[in-house]
Amino acid sequence: MSLESEFVRWLTERVVQRDHVLRGIGDDAAIVAGDQRNQVITTDLLCDGVHFRWGEVSAARIGRKALAVNLSDIAAMAAIPEAAVISVAFPRGFALAEAQQLYEGILELADQFDVAVIGGDTNSWSAPLVISVTMWGRVTEHGPLRRDTAQVGDRILVTGPLGGSILSHHLDFTPRVRESLLLRSRYDLHAGMDLTDGLSLDLSRLVASSQVGAELQLDAVPISNDARLLSQSSHKSPLEHALTDGEDFELLLTAAPDVAARIMSDKDLLLSCHDVGKIIAEPGLWSITPGGQRTRLQPQGYEHR
Ligand SMILES: [Mg+2]
Repeated sequence: MSLESEFVRWLTERVVQRDHVLRGIGDDAAIVAGDQRNQVITTDLLCDGVHFRWGEVSAARIGRKALAVNLSDIAAMAAIPEAAVISVAFPRGFALAEAQQLYEGILELADQFDVAVIGGDTNSWSAPLVISVTMWGRVTEHGPLRRDTAQVGDRILVTGPLGGSILSHHLDFTPRVRESLLLRSRYDLHAGMDLTDGLSLDLSRLVASSQVGAELQLDAVPISNDARLLSQSSHKSPLEHALTDGEDFELLLTAAPDVAARIMSDKDLLLSCHDVGKIIAEPGLWSITPGGQRTRLQPQGYEHR
């Protein structure tokens, strides 16, 4: 197990449970009780050399991504984004114009989603660029979407297509905020999260959190053109890319079969949903081939080290 997973497991046990925290560590965002509406809070840390490479992409695109990943977590909770604080450690010698460009990328996307940038912190140090965004939003009257409430018998839906995000989608994706709110307002969704580390790994986390298992219908997984393109040089099949590539930032949802069927036939949802399998009582992940063969699926994807 990686340092990060082990550390988070330790921390989850170590922190004190408080009455006003409705959901702490373990979801796309924490849920905190509020007077009028409950709030969701999430944070993400982006490091040069890990999440982007300074010099290979523009400062504005890096800034945009730093905000977009947080918006995706708010979308995963089916909440309305409200405000963000942003902290940056600039490498020494960083030009003011570059810092401004970084923030122009952030602010342009913030405007599109009506997010107020209300503060943060800046530092300079003799190491690469690091950006941390903390964002919060409000839960609607339909309630938050959580990872731990999938039910046996649910259909598993994904928005897509998936895979090959490294070619450009990971920088330019539009967070599924509007789509998630629309789906939540129309349908009784049981559970959900955003896809950040690959469908198989993220689905394994959702089912573990809900103490259930899943069967994935392999021929139903939506495969992106970028996944096909990448497979020409990667020695992996397009399906493998769709199952294991990170940073799709699409939605993974579960709902009762009748609800899922209505979602699938809804023509004005702003996006297409794909029914890729079902939630089962038996723990773990299983794949079903087009021929009906059932085998254990080893969750693979982007593991944080
Ligand atoms: Mg997430």
